[in-house]
Amino acid sequence: MTIISQILHARDQRASYRKQFADNGLPSLSVSLNIAGYPKHNHSTKAFFAIIISDLKEYLKANGITILEQKEINITDNDGDFYIAPLSADSDVISIKQITEQYEANHPAGRVIDIDITTTTFEPISSGKRKKCIVCSNQAAVDCMRSQNHSVTEVREVTFNTIESFLLSHRDSFIKRELSSYLLKSILYEISLTPKPGLVDTANPGIHTDMNYYTFVNSTSILTTYFNDIIDLAINNKMAKLETVLPQIRYIGIKAERNMFDQTNGVNTQKGGIFLLGLSAYAAAYTVVNHGLFDVNMCADIIKTICADIVKNEIESGKAENSHGIDCYNKYGNKYGGARLEAQNGMSTAIKYGFNIFNRSGIEMNRNSNKKVLDTHLFAALLNIMANNCDSNILFRSNEEILEGFKNAAQKAYCRIKNGEEPQSALNHLTTYCNYHRISAGGAADLLSVAIFFYLCKQEFGKVN
Ligand SMILES: [Zn+2]
Repeated sequence: MTIISQILHARDQRASYRKQFADNGLPSLSVSLNIAGYPKHNHSTKAFFAIIISDLKEYLKANGITILEQKEINITDNDGDFYIAPLSADSDVISIKQITEQYEANHPAGRVIDIDITTTTFEPISSGKRKKCIVCSNQAAVDCMRSQNHSVTEVREVTFNTIESFLLSHRDSFIKRELSSYLLKSILYEISLTPKPGLVDTANPGIHTDMNYYTFVNSTSILTTYFNDIIDLAINNKMAKLETVLPQIRYIGIKAERNMFDQTNGVNTQKGGIFLLGLSAYAAAYTVVNHGLFDVNMCADIIKTICADIVKNEIESGKAENSHGIDCYNKYGNKYGGARLEAQNGMSTAIKYGFNIFNRSGIEMNRNSNKKVLDTHLFAALLNIMANNCDSNILFRSNEEILEGFKNAAQKAYCRIKNGEEPQSALNHLTTYCNYHRISAGGAADLLSVAIFFYLCKQEFGKVN
């Protein structure tokens, strides 16, 4: 059979589906793609078509249109990708045609999509509207076709570019939605973990007198929108020069900080977290959109590049406004650079002591709601970070000796958790220590969020081993 006769045969087959539904008293809705020339389908059209069908079904549902899904047919034949399903017998086919035309008109790749409605008398519904040509937007497609204004090659090129750019932006939206939810989840997991020695949790405010669980809920509630803006930075300027993006990330971070203080009446709940998670959000988005996958080492390198020399430029130079990290750095030396040092090191503490705990265990975190399992892993990561982090939040309120005592106590609690002891008793000594010395490892809490975020990214976008 020649290609032409194969295509005609496929079209006959499609017509027979419509006829069958019509014979049973059912109008039908069918979808195909406008692909000039041959072949009429490939890997991209298949991906595109699947997205369109799923999306169109939601659109139809939203508009109160019933398709009989149990009778749907979804095939790829010599004429390309094809979907057909009967509509309910009492459907108002004229208005359905108008509604599907709106779908085509508003869709960014609408000129590639053909939605046909066939009546119970086996006739196509036509609104008489003429679709614009995909190459030259000002003329009707049928006129260009009749006058042979464009070569098949040209039409195919524009068509496939339209499909590819739709797939790309669809993928970008998916990445953004996922990363955004992980950022929020990483903060919620950290703040929900209870009991946390010294820190605010759902049961008590730790050693803090100016904030509690709800203060964190209030400030957390506004952060998603800013993190989305940071993800957009990476998506809208792919392959940006990393050495130059810090001010752009900060520009958004500063707005987030101002809104945080507004929500908490001036209490600093998450300033360090905004900085560290903001950088992590950018690096994760950059990695996934440019390399197609998440890799924690790649992410670390990106953050190192973005924040190269930040300690020298901002702390040593005395340029940065006051922070615990800066005070501790000046007083106790270069081990203590707070969030800036952690960023300059590519989140080395969060990755080494937090992320690696999750990664080694392989815990399924994305859709897990097993409290005991999550608690155990989250406590292990938090305590391991506490036992190894030079937390300027603690040092600022005490001295090196108390910080070392805290790290030792955290190390012991970590071992007890690892040995299966219940958190309540394993954390007892550490909690007493924090309360006695009035210290709170706010830095470790931020690093736990970063570790959770990276691990969630890895589980969704990581390399398949
Ligand atoms: Zn044209």
